[in-house]
Amino acid sequence: MNQKNLELCKGLVKSNYVDQAIQGTSQFNKIIESLLIHRRLPEIGYSDKVIELILNEISMMDSNNFIENIGVGEREGRIYSSLVEKRHYGFSHGIGRSGDITEQQPKAAGSSLIQKLVHYLVLDAMRIAGLESQAASTCLLLPMATGMTLSLAMMTLKQKSQSNARYVIWPRIDQKSCLKSIVTAGLIPIVIENKLEGDMIRTDLDAIKSKIIELGPSNILCVFSTTSCFAPRAPDRIVEISQLCKEHNIGHIINNAYGLQCSKILHAISQSCKLGRVDAYIQSTDKNFMVPVGGAIISGPNKVFIEDIAKNYPGRANSSPILDVFITLLSMGKSGWSGLLKERKELLVYFQDQLGKLANEFNEKLLSTINENKISFAFSLKNFSSNKNEQQLESELNNNNNNNNDYSPSMLGSQLFSRSCSGARVIDLSKNKKAIVGGLEFNYYGSHIDGYPTSYLTVACAIGVTKSEIDKFIQRLSKLLKK
Ligand SMILES: *Cc1c(COP(=O)(O)O)cnc(C)c1O
Repeated sequence: MNQKNLELCKGLVKSNYVDQAIQGTSQFNKIIESLLIHRRLPEIGYSDKVIELILNEISMMDSNNFIENIGVGEREGRIYSSLVEKRHYGFSHGIGRSGDITEQQPKAAGSSLIQKLVHYLVLDAMRIAGLESQAASTCLLLPMATGMTLSLAMMTLKQKSQSNARYVIWPRIDQKSCLKSIVTAGLIPIVIENKLEGDMIRTDLDAIKSKIIELGPSNILCVFSTTSCFAPRAPDRIVEISQLCKEHNIGHIINNAYGLQCSKILHAISQSCKLGRVDAYIQSTDKNFMVPVGGAIISGPNKVFIEDIAKNYPGRANSSPILDVFITLLSMGKSGWSGLLKERKELLVYFQDQLGKLANEFNEKLLSTINENKISFAFSLKNFSSNKNEQQLESELNNNNNNNNDYSPSMLGSQLFSRSCSGARVIDLSKNKKAIVGGLEFNYYGSHIDGYPTSYLTVACAIGVTKSEIDKFIQRLSKLLKK
């Protein structure tokens, strides 16, 4: 209620009671004021009730919610189902205008406000997580997942480049959407095979250098590097890559899909922006902020380029993924977000210890990748063979037939899955799994390299995982390994 209405209440309720109520409601107004002035995560996250009040208040600013609004256009934010309306808190107009996804929408001051605020909140969250300000000059939250957003970034880079460069130098990562994002952007991927260093799969910088010389820098649009990946692959050597890009005047796009949760990666991104060339780095909203799949964040040191990407987005966009992040960041607050980051770091050590012990017990090895890859682990499966087919093995397992040591690595993967462990991945290198992705053929697909010496299991210590989940996983894995 505004001041005038509150004063009118004094004609109905004792004025000292109303004065007290005014104090109460002014606390809520202070919260909104602070959000509008500081544009940062609140120290402590807000309760659901406060967040709903904020959302309801802001959604009243959109024309579809005006009490006297009459729409005579073709897009008036009408919502048929009240369930859908509730699900969106009455936000219906989406974001942007046809000319620019960050442009304010005249019919929707409220949605426009949320979009503006969310960008400030995400920037704040990125800085809290460890990115330096120079590296995160601005950011753009789009309602497309990582792969499509990577495509849009590369298409914009191509459009802005003066040359006809179409090659994209791509250190191999066996994740289909990475490669497809290049092909979908109408560009030509040039695969750089990785090299083995100890247990780790790492960027072959010399191969990148010679490829740049061979193709000629003017024909190369960019290097597309990847930070977050499954062990035993290490994050790409992005600092060196960005220096190469700067030296040869070629673009650099970093796929940082789930790297926002990892301070080591963020440090490398900050260094890359400082010492070399980075055009944009892109991360998923769901993998970093615990929201449903559907959004990605583009950021980079060069504000103009990020704005160019926003201008290239054709049409308006759905605002749900933006709203999800807005709600989540207000709910986490600074303490919740930093707490989650800290907890993940602590559990990383714990998870690693537990897996290491298990590996010893079964004469396997936790592959030494942890110095570089601080999210994912790989557990060797060298004592597994694959002479029997899955059906034979499944029936043996079900009959508790223990006298077989003829158990295939991929079997372990499906066994884990059927015992409600999701996300663990088995890379069975006893056979060469070929795959064609984006028109290119790969050997040993899934392992990021040809001829890794052992099969293995990978798991991730990702934001939000709990100690009890780790404990249960270790129990189930141990039980299966015993069998
Ligand atoms: C998840 C992921 C992607 C694809 O992300 P979408 O959000 O599904 O488009 C691409 N690259 C890497 C490394 C990923 O982890």
